[in-house]
Amino acid sequence: MLTICGAKARRNNYKPCRQPAMSNGKCRLHGGKSTGPRTKEGKQRVKVANTKHGFYSAEAIAERKLCRTLIKASEVKNR
Ligand SMILES: [Zn+2]
Repeated sequence: MLTICGAKARRNNYKPCRQPAMSNGKCRLHGGKSTGPRTKEGKQRVKVANTKHGFYSAEAIAERKLCRTLIKASEVKNR
């Protein structure tokens, strides 16, 4: 079944768009926002691209927490 896009077009006095729709329900011009990476490789690529130093990563936070507890434990022992 052929569906039409139906997006409101500002340039055409807000009449609905009459282009045939893609699988997401909108035409090639009114496809909407990206839904982001789907595959595991794609998600990993975005993660790498957006990570600057990893100081606030769960791994780094856990490491600092471990160091603090070890320091604290050693202080109690030496007293
Ligand atoms: Zn459209």
